[in-house]
Amino acid sequence: MRKTTLILLLVTMSTILVGQNLNTTMDKNKKETSKTEDQWKQELTTEEYQVLRQCGTEQPFTGKYYDFKEKGSYLCAACGHELFSSSTKYDSGSGWPSFYQPIESGNIDEKRDTNLGMERIEIVCSNCGGHLGHVFNDGPQPTGLRYCVNSISLDFKPSSNSLKELK
Ligand code: FE
Repeated sequence: MRKTTLILLLVTMSTILVGQNLNTTMDKNKKETSKTEDQWKQELTTEEYQVLRQCGTEQPFTGKYYDFKEKGSYLCAACGHELFSSSTKYDSGSGWPSFYQPIESGNIDEKRDTNLGMERIEIVCSNCGGHLGHVFNDGPQPTGLRYCVNSISLDFKPSSNSLKELK
């Protein structure tokens, strides 16, 4: 009787452990786009949700990164996906952080946007679909593009060199 109970206990425990491993693997492979709007609402602040999930726009000259000049990379504030390098950031005078190219072309998706009665190209994080801003063709060389981004859609990761400088 005791032996049977022990075996049952062992089987149950190993099933739970295998299940946990499977879940961890599945979570790692899960694309952020599979999150529901309710989940995003819980994870993001009200302001982040309005911009990232409802295509809002922050007021110009108010965001934390429009006049920010540290060296490093800019990540999606919703999912941590790398979007821009500080080496392609420039002062466009628009009041929003501006870059002339993404860190990698596949990291940002473009969508046609006809809201506000204008034809614009919306830019979104390719991992989670979060709204970043718009891209215009009045940027500096070498691309001639201006990726105009809401600060609130971005997180900043200092480069390891600038971390060393701080120490
Ligand atoms: Fe994202």
